[in-house]
Amino acid sequence: MSVADAGHGLGRRLVPKTASYLDWNATAPLRPEAAAAIAEALDGWGNPSSVHRRGRAARRLVEGAREPVAALLGDVDPSGVIFVSGGTEANHLALLGAGCDRVLVSAVEHDSIRAAVPSAEIIPVDADGIVLLDALDRLLSSGPHPALVSVMYANNETGVVQPVAEVAAIARRHGALFHCDAVQAAGKVALDARKVGADLVTLSAHKIGGPAGVGALVVTGTTDLTPQLRGGGQEHRRRAGTENLLGIVAFAAAAAVAADEIAVYDKVVALRDELEAGVAAAAPEAVVLGASVDRLPNTSAIAMPGVTAETQVVALDLDGVMVSAGAACSSGKVGPSHVLAAMQVDPKIAGSTIRVSLGWSSNEADIAHFLQAWTALYRRCAGLAEGARAA
Ligand code: PLP
Repeated sequence: MSVADAGHGLGRRLVPKTASYLDWNATAPLRPEAAAAIAEALDGWGNPSSVHRRGRAARRLVEGAREPVAALLGDVDPSGVIFVSGGTEANHLALLGAGCDRVLVSAVEHDSIRAAVPSAEIIPVDADGIVLLDALDRLLSSGPHPALVSVMYANNETGVVQPVAEVAAIARRHGALFHCDAVQAAGKVALDARKVGADLVTLSAHKIGGPAGVGALVVTGTTDLTPQLRGGGQEHRRRAGTENLLGIVAFAAAAAVAADEIAVYDKVVALRDELEAGVAAAAPEAVVLGASVDRLPNTSAIAMPGVTAETQVVALDLDGVMVSAGAACSSGKVGPSHVLAAMQVDPKIAGSTIRVSLGWSSNEADIAHFLQAWTALYRRCAGLAEGARAA
């Protein structure tokens, strides 16, 4: 997708038309439907807690937004949707608000999970980044209860999908709650939270075409939560603070389109596979992490051995191709990826791995652009290496 096609306002002026945005796991462009919902709600401003007509009108907008957001997770009661400020807050509310003595998280969770409970017990993963179910079972067999298990649906750096239904079954057998961070999976693959057996699910608007700064923790059953932000009684006393009305209506609009258009990812996966085939043809020593297991249709973690990820990101950007070195959502973060370290990826490979992530408007031109820029960089670097050996 050329950024000009996807962006609104600022993006159009700041980014040249020929640029290719391949960093959708960091954030996605605002969908036109979300922008339209914001524009419409500008008129309906009001505090949803106010009893007068303006307040009641705003309340209707908030309540109406729960259904499309819940529908992203299949047949889930919309009253379980708690609107929060994003995936980070939803993860904190789940892990800290469930009130469990023990918290167990996979070794490849997003930083917002790891930082929420630094003392959490770690569930190890295999070389593809998939949680070791036996290890989870063993951990839950020992030690005190009640426990909460948090395992993401799909990883933000590699796209690797976890066996979440099995994780949920093990958690249930041990009387533990199961929280699933579905920030990256939502809108890219069809989700069914009840079939999976997740008690709590995290969603974030800006990964599906809504604005950043709004998200939801969805309670699929009867789990009680202690609010982590206290003050007013908003969100059924589970999250204080005046509701982000514009963000919430835009989130709902984006969720509705994302659910409707999920089939677009059949095309996205074909583009992603074409990109990976092009990389393999140009550089046989390139490595695609998690390539042999179930992955999101849009994500590719690609190592160009011998060239640091930071060098690649900068060089590709100079050529108009935007990708990231691992989890780019923590601004400016440079350093070894805990995800790749947990997978025991050779540090040299890990240090040369970039994340390429596609979205609903990615197209053939983006793939060609990436392959041209990536291959040129590879040849330059391989040439330098040859030269150094010869010298
Ligand atoms: N969880 C995962 C898997 C993510 O990839 C991200 C952001 O990249 C988050 C949580 C945090 O979401 P937010 O940016 O809405 O706080």
